Amino acid sequence: MNVQAGSQTFDNIDGAGEGAEQVARIAVAYGDGIGPEIMTASLSVLHEAGARLEIQNVVIGEKAYLSGHTAGLDASVWDVLRDTQALYKAPITTPQGGGYKSLNVTIRKSLGMFANVRPCVSYAPVVETRHAGMDVVIIRENEEDLYAGIEHRQTDEVYQCLKLISRPGCEKIIRYAFEYARVNGRKKVSCFTKDNIMKLTDGLFHKVFDEVASEYPEIETDHWIIDIGAAMLADQPDVFDVVVAPNLYGDIISDITAQISGSVGIGPSSNIGAHGAMFEAIHGSAPTIAGQGIANPSGLILAGAMMLAHLGQSQIAEKIHNAWLRTIEDGIHTPDLFAEGVSVKKVGTQEFGEAVAARLGQKPEKLAPVAYDKDAKPIEIYTPVPKDSEKKELVGIDVFVQSRMDPNELGKLMCQAEQTLDVKLEMITNRGVKVWPDPKPETFCTDHWRCRYMAQDGTEFDLNSVVALLSRLASSNVDFIKTEQLYTFDGVPGYSLGHGQ
Ligand code: NAD
Repeated sequence: MNVQAGSQTFDNIDGAGEGAEQVARIAVAYGDGIGPEIMTASLSVLHEAGARLEIQNVVIGEKAYLSGHTAGLDASVWDVLRDTQALYKAPITTPQGGGYKSLNVTIRKSLGMFANVRPCVSYAPVVETRHAGMDVVIIRENEEDLYAGIEHRQTDEVYQCLKLISRPGCEKIIRYAFEYARVNGRKKVSCFTKDNIMKLTDGLFHKVFDEVASEYPEIETDHWIIDIGAAMLADQPDVFDVVVAPNLYGDIISDITAQISGSVGIGPSSNIGAHGAMFEAIHGSAPTIAGQGIANPSGLILAGAMMLAHLGQSQIAEKIHNAWLRTIEDGIHTPDLFAEGVSVKKVGTQEFGEAVAARLGQKPEKLAPVAYDKDAKPIEIYTPVPKDSEKKELVGIDVFVQSRMDPNELGKLMCQAEQTLDVKLEMITNRGVKVWPDPKPETFCTDHWRCRYMAQDGTEFDLNSVVALLSRLASSNVDFIKTEQLYTFDGVPGYSLGHGQ
């Protein structure tokens, strides 16, 4: 087996038994930080278990960036990812605060891998945890939300990130969660949002959840506001079974559940779409422990088992999973899991992999062994059907302005633009809170204002009116930095109110 990151070679791992004729073609990325160590250990386990894989290595992340690929990968990698059945990926480092965009996000989104499935299980008594019996699957939306990464600096003081939530995006992930529950005999699906605050975006996610839930009457459902939901998940995870959430919340709560199961190092994940799949650990590249040979490869080993099941090699996946359970049951633990009185032997990354390989064919005795259904069909992926367009009417405009004026001065200036245009300045907000008319002296204001003009009843208001308004504002030297049109859809406002409006 070729294990050199960066090479673009093929290699066959010969397997025997179940479907010996089917060799799956996969791409492997060794990643950054602890990535190469845990990938080497994981691939050895897959190899020893008889996984039938043809591997093509790809280099993505920091190494590709440092060798001159500003996007973090060479363009040819996309062809490899398209031509292979799955990507088995170790974590990659994403620069914080600047530098290249997250490649994890780019790969998931570019290849349409909309569903991120993160099973989190606790292994008491063989792994120390406060939550014996936890068995939760987090299904995280992978393509939308704040992860669109559309950010702008708008004024001296204010920066913005757009949160994009679409109906087809909600439908795909929520249906996937219900189908996942049905296929895997799960009893309940919980939805996490913050729709008491983000009534339109998170409100849509919740609404679609309720719509889809009605088609799965045998499955219990509930909805949690994300803050108390996350607290409950950390405190009483056995209340939950399958949790579906928008991208950011899903990312955060799956790290919480993995960590409270014993270590973030043991959580696997799959990224599923209609055109490809990627399997990885949920944790990152852990740069502070990289190169020390102490990282836990469990998350990536278990992700390898998920991948083999996905590729139709479920009996090999089962063998690996049970050998892994037996290893942790025997008290063979990496330092992140090691606890005096519970663990028997502290081992490094490679030794842990060897211990799993040595137990292939064995089953755990205290923990429940796993049984993979070799006839399991892949979960059906829903293709959203566009709905009929609703009647969209332009009824106003929010003009965002940079200014150091006080609210009353700004209100006076912005009212001048009303004349002859049949629009009325209805309110001014500062970071969402109404400050005009009737500003409160206590409200802290930045240099970023939103001025809402509404069309007057019975008047025509169209994009030409918007241009005329902006032209008038430009002649008055108003420093407008962005606009948002205000529409109604079949008469329902497609915009939120200001706080205090
Ligand atoms: P991290 O998950 O890398 O590390 C968090 C903590 O968990 C650290 O204390 C680390 O030592 C520990 N840890 C993580 N994995 C472990 C393992 N297998 N065994 C033992 N301990 C382990 O999170 P971070 O520090 O926030 O991120 C580091 C880098 O990883 C960042 O650049 C981030 O963008 C990237 N990241 C990548 C992915 C991915 O590739 N899918 C996911 C998350 C973070």
